[in-house]
Amino acid sequence: MVGSAIVRRLRKNNHENLVFAERKDLDLREQDSVREFLSATKPDLVIIAAAKVGGILANRDAPGDFILENLLIQTNLIAESFRAGIERLLFLGSSCIYPKFAKQPISEDELLTGMLEPTNESYAVAKIAGLKLCAALSQQYGVDYRSVMPTNLYGPGDNFDAEKSHVIPGLIRRFHDAVQQGDDNVVVWGSGNPRREFLYVDDMADASFHVLQTEKDSFDSAAGINRFVNVGSGVDHSIRELADLIAKTTGFDGKITWDTSKPDGTPRKLLDVSRLESLEWSHSTGLEEGLSRTYSWYTQEMPTSVQANSN
Ligand code: GDP
Repeated sequence: MVGSAIVRRLRKNNHENLVFAERKDLDLREQDSVREFLSATKPDLVIIAAAKVGGILANRDAPGDFILENLLIQTNLIAESFRAGIERLLFLGSSCIYPKFAKQPISEDELLTGMLEPTNESYAVAKIAGLKLCAALSQQYGVDYRSVMPTNLYGPGDNFDAEKSHVIPGLIRRFHDAVQQGDDNVVVWGSGNPRREFLYVDDMADASFHVLQTEKDSFDSAAGINRFVNVGSGVDHSIRELADLIAKTTGFDGKITWDTSKPDGTPRKLLDVSRLESLEWSHSTGLEEGLSRTYSWYTQEMPTSVQANSN
């Protein structure tokens, strides 16, 4: 999802000289394959949008896969970029790197100040290792490896699995299916009380592009020793509000039932985006507009075979 959005953003700026590695062509978990790919393509800059991602249940149920695959993917790419003499790199992390009870809104200084949220600890530990690797190599060897920590992202190209996905695509899928099948009840997980901040994926791509365009001195003085900045909208919503909005977007007017046997996860996750604002970037797509664009994409662009099979 994010990689495709970054490609759209780069193309908008007439960057045509792009090389990609799609999953079917290159297994990023294999260090030798990553080395061969980089030596064959010789990029000036590497953007790491690849990761094993999933929603709260997928993370809770497969901690081994999440830590192992993410450590492999990112370490292979960072280590082999460094070995190949590539001076510039952008690593995409996640707002789940912060402690479960971080002070809200969460500033970058909250990193490693408390225990992590258990449902996504494995993913978070991998992402923390990735940003630290980028920062440490930059500090010791003078390369320019930057990181961005996005809040919960959504948009075209997301995984719309009903169970394993994040909350927005999971609910779009289930509300849409209910409308199609004439069901008058949709089950939503947890208590509805957790609060989350959401960012439309094209805004994330624009922020990544902006961070890459920022002069090194300006980036360093805003980002500090760990060389990363938060990327968010600065606005959060309860899951209850989100469910109501998705019901409206999909035209569902039945009943919502809360399944409190499912985990809530961290109570609140709202990023402090003042560092990025100091670099003169802020988001442009509000949640209602982003949901409506995502839903149009889901109904028009997503192959119906995928809609039917992704359950
Ligand atoms: P998180 O930010 O890492 O917790 O990621 P998620 O997007 O998976 O979940 C966000 C919140 O939405 C949690 O409190 C979930 O319990 C809640 N939620 C409600 N319904 C769903 C659903 O259908 N799928 C997911 N993934 N989360 C849901």
